[in-house]
Amino acid sequence: MKRRNRDMQQTVKEPIEIKGYGIHTGKPAKVVINPAPEDTGILFKKEGVSFPATVDHVVDVTNATTVGHEGVTIRTVEHLLSALHGLGIDNAVVEVEGEEIPGLDGSAKEFAERILEKGIKVQEKPRRYLRITGTLRVENEKGGFVEICPDSGGFSAECAIEYNHPFLKQQKVRFRRGEHSFVDEVAPARTYCFYEEIAHLLKRGLGRGGNIKNAVVIGKDGVLNGPTRFEDEPVRHKLLDLLGDLTLFGMPLKAEVRAYKAGHALHVKFLNELAKKKEIGKVEE
Ligand SMILES: [Zn+2]
Repeated sequence: MKRRNRDMQQTVKEPIEIKGYGIHTGKPAKVVINPAPEDTGILFKKEGVSFPATVDHVVDVTNATTVGHEGVTIRTVEHLLSALHGLGIDNAVVEVEGEEIPGLDGSAKEFAERILEKGIKVQEKPRRYLRITGTLRVENEKGGFVEICPDSGGFSAECAIEYNHPFLKQQKVRFRRGEHSFVDEVAPARTYCFYEEIAHLLKRGLGRGGNIKNAVVIGKDGVLNGPTRFEDEPVRHKLLDLLGDLTLFGMPLKAEVRAYKAGHALHVKFLNELAKKKEIGKVEE
């Protein structure tokens, strides 16, 4: 058996078609993840418009990450991007039909499983990383932050959440590539919401495709639709979202990333600052 070399670029072996419904729009949605040559990166394609999955194409960060270009938009890209990131897929052309990426079970599980089922192809060119040598911390007005610093090994991330809520107060999770399994420990973590928030989300036209199977609903005394997949499923989902949004940097990082009370808006603000800070790292193969 050929040993998989993590340091060569990778793509999918053959096209992978995934259908479902948008978690926010509730409308039918379809993606096809196609193989792509070296140095393509992750490219979205919709209605004849192609654009890279990069932070300069983010057009909205309300409850999900929406990307767009030339009038075409794609909502809720983060779980699919997380699966691509987690499995080390560098190059793919993701064709999208519909307003949103399929929500599936609210996690990245099916994306990851379907990619693994069809197989990953190791390509001919080495992967390029940005090795972080400096530090950067970006905060929001609610006390949340995302910070990055050098990592002695490859890539690690730490996520923490904190709520003033009777049931969900604090959770924290650490992930180190090579030590933890993205497929088993991160990908299955479903999105979550607070019971009190649901009416508000629906009023804003969000969460229309949400149901008791694709979101962990947290009431004041506990999870209303258990059992959960992990005791700390919410913070694992936050990690899943973070890994997805980090893909929008356009190059994998060798760094330690820490996120506290963060979300899509802060992730994107962080990535914009990181992109501006050229001296923070060096590109290596
Ligand atoms: Zn999410």
